[in-house]
Amino acid sequence: MATIVFMDHDEGAFNPNSLGVLAKAASLGGEVTAFVGGSGIDDAWAGGLGAYGASRVLVADDAALAGLPQPLVDALEPHAREADTVLFGAGVVSADVAAGLAARVGSGINCETTDFTLGEGGVVAVRPALGDTVMVESTFASSPAIILGRANAFASEPTGSGTAPVERVAVTVQEWSSAARMAGREQAETGGVDITEADVLVAFGRGIGGPENIPVVEQLAKALGGEVAATRAVVDAGWTSYSMQVGQTGKTVSPKLYVACGISGAIQHKVGMANAGVIVAINKDVNAPIFEFADLGVVGDVLTVMPKLTEALAGR
Ligand SMILES: Cc1cc2nc3c(=O)[nH]c(=O)nc-3n(C[C@H](O)[C@H](O)[C@H](O)COP(=O)(O)OP(=O)(O)OC[C@H]3O[C@@H](n4cnc5c(N)ncnc54)[C@H](O)[C@@H]3O)c2cc1C
Repeated sequence: MATIVFMDHDEGAFNPNSLGVLAKAASLGGEVTAFVGGSGIDDAWAGGLGAYGASRVLVADDAALAGLPQPLVDALEPHAREADTVLFGAGVVSADVAAGLAARVGSGINCETTDFTLGEGGVVAVRPALGDTVMVESTFASSPAIILGRANAFASEPTGSGTAPVERVAVTVQEWSSAARMAGREQAETGGVDITEADVLVAFGRGIGGPENIPVVEQLAKALGGEVAATRAVVDAGWTSYSMQVGQTGKTVSPKLYVACGISGAIQHKVGMANAGVIVAINKDVNAPIFEFADLGVVGDVLTVMPKLTEALAGR
């Protein structure tokens, strides 16, 4: 099976989601080709993708590939047409290129994919559906199969060793693809903390009573050496910023420890944090859904339990 993985990158670093998808593809066996498009690509840097399992790396280097997706679709298209599967990790450019490629070659696309495997008829993509209440396995009626992974669904650990051979490929950019130009780029305000990177998260929901109690959560997070996260209910209520939201319409996190304080455990929250190593829940309602998937549960008033926990940790 011929597999190509599109490698999204920015300022000299590969997107961890692309690396994760590459490593996953390599773990299934067979040849995996990484595709790197851009301007001024360094061969040694691209060849380093061998450490993530790439058997070879195609480099498309052209000034027209410096940022916008359509020229990247042009560069990728001839190689995608020869492949059985084209994989993308989550990312802004990746999503645009994946959609553009699917339209260009007339293939089906599976988005928000959280896993993929090899079946008898080719690749099988797994993704949540119906508000993340069910997992759906999809096969493809068209070729190549195009898959766009969900953010943080694939770990980006190096799996291979050594350097992959690099092959420079010709680039032909269509006239219409250069009709748009990049006017500028700005970084969104994130409040300085990236909750997807934290090893420990103390998350709060409506159960903490109000924004005036957020410092109690922050103190517990500090005592645990972690960061603070939140549910959509409290983000929608304006208690904290969207960059803190965990869940279906927020971020997917996988910390080693997730302490859920006054969180009911709705399915839309669960899908963003169920992969945490250890889940501790504090809730006054013994029937709260969060207790169904928490590893440890404390039934009690969160405003009593949190300070006691902080105090106990400070004493150690
Ligand atoms: C399409 C869609 C997308 C969504 N996306 C997301 C998402 O990305 N992330 C997300 O989080 N939600 C999302 N939601 C909302 C989700 O369905 C829930 O409404 C939300 O997660 C509930 O947040 P909560 O747990 O803070 O509040 P609640 O459901 O109100 O739960 C509060 C909990 O606190 C407990 N409690 C109350 N007082 C105390 C106390 N003193 N001590 C201890 N416990 C106490 C209660 O028993 C309760 O279990 C989405 C919904 C939809 C429809």
